[in-house]
Amino acid sequence: MLFVPVKTPGFIKKLLPNFIWEYTTTQKVLYLTFDDGPTPEITHWTLKLLQQFQAKATFFCIGKNIELFPDIFRDIILQGHGIGNHSHTHIKGWQINTAKYLSDINQAQRTIKNYTVPPKNTNAKRLFRPPYGQITPKQGKVLIQEGYAVVTWSILSFDWDKNTTPESCYQNIIKHTKAGDIVVFHDSVKASKNLMYALPRVLAYFSARGYQFHALPESFN
Ligand SMILES: [Zn+2]
Repeated sequence: MLFVPVKTPGFIKKLLPNFIWEYTTTQKVLYLTFDDGPTPEITHWTLKLLQQFQAKATFFCIGKNIELFPDIFRDIILQGHGIGNHSHTHIKGWQINTAKYLSDINQAQRTIKNYTVPPKNTNAKRLFRPPYGQITPKQGKVLIQEGYAVVTWSILSFDWDKNTTPESCYQNIIKHTKAGDIVVFHDSVKASKNLMYALPRVLAYFSARGYQFHALPESFN
């Protein structure tokens, strides 16, 4: 995608209807998601903040980072958040064939399973988010056949983007986000400047308006 908006346009959602872009709900619920971790610099900070607001979220982890920082990965689970697969090596779907793509994602899934701890059982969890949003329709189809739910988003925070200021990152989110939205952040060093400014304010803003923050549902029947 050459132009990526904060709010995912309806026609893109219609083009790829098998992906999970958002939820239809009458409840004041938001689904915050954090990609690219776990990272020692940012993930614990994020977890602490979520705890202060009694917020749950979903962390789309990179398999290699789980292997590097298994204790942080377990802390995410032990604090009741959801885990998703963000591939093993953060690969771009458009630059790789479907077999290799699937193999990298399956490797990450094995890593998730190997490093998980009770009380959460990640066997049932097959949430996958494509790195860079890059995935071909064929790759999407194969992943869904393999039992993955492909989770995209309705709101991008642009926290990683060097042309986005912390204040505009925050404003983008509060201006566009509505109940049921899936919002993308990154618990990465690259995104930390915007994340550390915007996330506490987003949590405070929506909490004050009666919203709750949930992990993504694990059942996709
Ligand atoms: Zn990513």
